[in-house]
Amino acid sequence: MNRNTHPKIWLSSPHMSGNEIKYVDDAFANNWIAPLGPNINAFEKSLQDYTNSSHVGALSSGTAALHLGLLLLGVKSDDFVITQSLTFAASANPIRYLGGIPIFVDSEWSTWNMCPYQMEKAIIACIQGRIKGHKAKLPAAIVPVHLFGMPANMDEIMTIAAKYGIPVLEDAAEALGSTYRGKHCGTFGKMGVLSFNGNKIITTSGGGALMSESAELIQRARHLSTQAREDVPHFEHLEIGYNYRMSNVLAGIGCGQLEVLDQRVMARRRVFESYKNFFNNFEGISIHQESSSVYYSNHWLSAILIDPMRTGGIDREFLRLRLAERNIEARPVWKPMHQQPVYKDYPFFGSGVADEIFSKGLCLPSGSNLSMESIYDILDFLNQVLGQKTKAKLLATAC
Ligand SMILES: *Cc1c(COP(=O)(O)O)cnc(C)c1O
Repeated sequence: MNRNTHPKIWLSSPHMSGNEIKYVDDAFANNWIAPLGPNINAFEKSLQDYTNSSHVGALSSGTAALHLGLLLLGVKSDDFVITQSLTFAASANPIRYLGGIPIFVDSEWSTWNMCPYQMEKAIIACIQGRIKGHKAKLPAAIVPVHLFGMPANMDEIMTIAAKYGIPVLEDAAEALGSTYRGKHCGTFGKMGVLSFNGNKIITTSGGGALMSESAELIQRARHLSTQAREDVPHFEHLEIGYNYRMSNVLAGIGCGQLEVLDQRVMARRRVFESYKNFFNNFEGISIHQESSSVYYSNHWLSAILIDPMRTGGIDREFLRLRLAERNIEARPVWKPMHQQPVYKDYPFFGSGVADEIFSKGLCLPSGSNLSMESIYDILDFLNQVLGQKTKAKLLATAC
């Protein structure tokens, strides 16, 4: 078979409900083509209700939300900020926008997120002046990530953060709809970040949000995101502002998307279940899954680990390339920040977990708009490549 005969199956593509256009039409009808308007207010309110957070500010991207979040926590030049290494670069880049020093921490096996033990080791190293070229200092913030929708180990992370008095900014960009002990990701820390980029579980084409218990922090975020303009007739500025507010047009897309968020979460979880049942039967392949019932992942992306020592030599790249030939998009998991050329000179605390997840990890097509046929197609093809199971048995696991 050549690739042209099979339509492309994407890793994760936008999935509209149909109602988005009504909110966008409203924005046009009333000429709210601006970074303010009723869609923004409605989107913020719905996000607040959905996540049970006190206050939400809609912004132009998750990256902008991380930048403003760190700024509002007081992160300055040469401050240490602890974040997990196994993540997308946008978790770390805003630390550098502010001149801060990212301190990268390894993952734990159970969640693939920030390892609490290594995190505390990093904090102690900062306090004791063991970061080369820097004076002893308490880290200014901790940025845990809920990778692929999997909640981080928040009990331990929050306990350690409180013990040292360090504020937490959660990167929940991938985890809208995920909960830990029934509480939404992004609502544990002093602030939390969401993303509505095109590949995320819901999208505004591009967008983000900052969440907090503190009305003042979110008010400050809104102010800074609209050029820090004072409330007077002329243009008066007491501080440096940013152009980071969400557009009212795009917030309209968000309003339509939020109406179906629960369905999107259920659909992604169903995709995950199909993979989980399928891979149960394969030696050497394990799936990224909740380690106990306190974790509830939106399973934004389903990811597997392939151990070539136990699959008869089949490794991550072999499988990825075979899938690519068949026009099925699969991607290696995020490359850890401590392995990135741009971050090679920053400290890392760890023991090889993130490295191993990167070398063995593959993200599989996980979109909420994947048809049952497409999922069957993927499993059937995986079955051919891995070559161990019967088609009849496969059908049973796919449904
Ligand atoms: C997508 C993402 C971001 C950035 O969000 P944007 O809206 O694309 O700026 C940050 N962190 C993680 C973990 C992400 O996946």
